[in-house]
Amino acid sequence: MVIDFEEYLKGVVASEMPAEFNAEALKAQAVTARTYLLYRLKKYPNGQPDHMGAPVCTGTHCQVWTSKEDLIASHEQGWYEQYWGKIEETVNSTHGQILTYEDKIIEPLFHSTSGGRTENSEDVFSASVPYLRSVESPYEAEAPKLHGSVKMTVDEFINKIKSAYGNLNITRDNLNEKIKLGEVSEGGKVKTIFIDNTEITGRELRSLFNLNSANFSFIQSGDQIEILTTGYGHGVGMSQWGAEGMADEGYNYKDILKHYFTGVEVVSMK
Ligand SMILES: [Zn+2]
Repeated sequence: MVIDFEEYLKGVVASEMPAEFNAEALKAQAVTARTYLLYRLKKYPNGQPDHMGAPVCTGTHCQVWTSKEDLIASHEQGWYEQYWGKIEETVNSTHGQILTYEDKIIEPLFHSTSGGRTENSEDVFSASVPYLRSVESPYEAEAPKLHGSVKMTVDEFINKIKSAYGNLNITRDNLNEKIKLGEVSEGGKVKTIFIDNTEITGRELRSLFNLNSANFSFIQSGDQIEILTTGYGHGVGMSQWGAEGMADEGYNYKDILKHYFTGVEVVSMK
């Protein structure tokens, strides 16, 4: 599919953030979206390996893009009239602006809610990236998924662990002493945990129990186990709810981008 560059960005901004967000947060997302697409075009001139021929797809694998028609259909009546002009303005007013680090286009990762502090890239993905450093994200109080909880019976919990990691010696009675926390990242996520001496990554457990994030803890009471989570998403780069919170505190989109992407510049494309 071929689409006008700036038109594409409007569909990304409207898909990745609620249009009700502060205009400065939406502008931060617009610059992020433009930078992401350019980064991809440069890195994969012949298409991303998972979808040859296209630098980005329209799903969460890359960055979400929705057509204007589908956006109208998926929102309440009047959404287009109320918000489309605002979306266009965020893209138009940042026209051509991208993020660079040492004069190179950055890979501007982002996520919903960091849970108070973002992550160093190497704690979540493999590479240490100089502009993807762990920073405070203090204004996320409005984020709907700042705190999450998943409840199940202790037997369900044990069966699920055993189905994924073999016949570990865990029972309702010894569970507490068999679970030991390993490494925790600077952003507060579980990097590793030991269950009956088997090392499991926080990311694996996150996916096994479908948790909002790898920042989690367990509470066992009687027959029940509750997994409490903080934040939503991988935690690297810009926190979208943190951007919204900063904007409400009076920070502009450049402040927001420079806060979440360490050492970057906002520059106009040549
Ligand atoms: Zn993709």
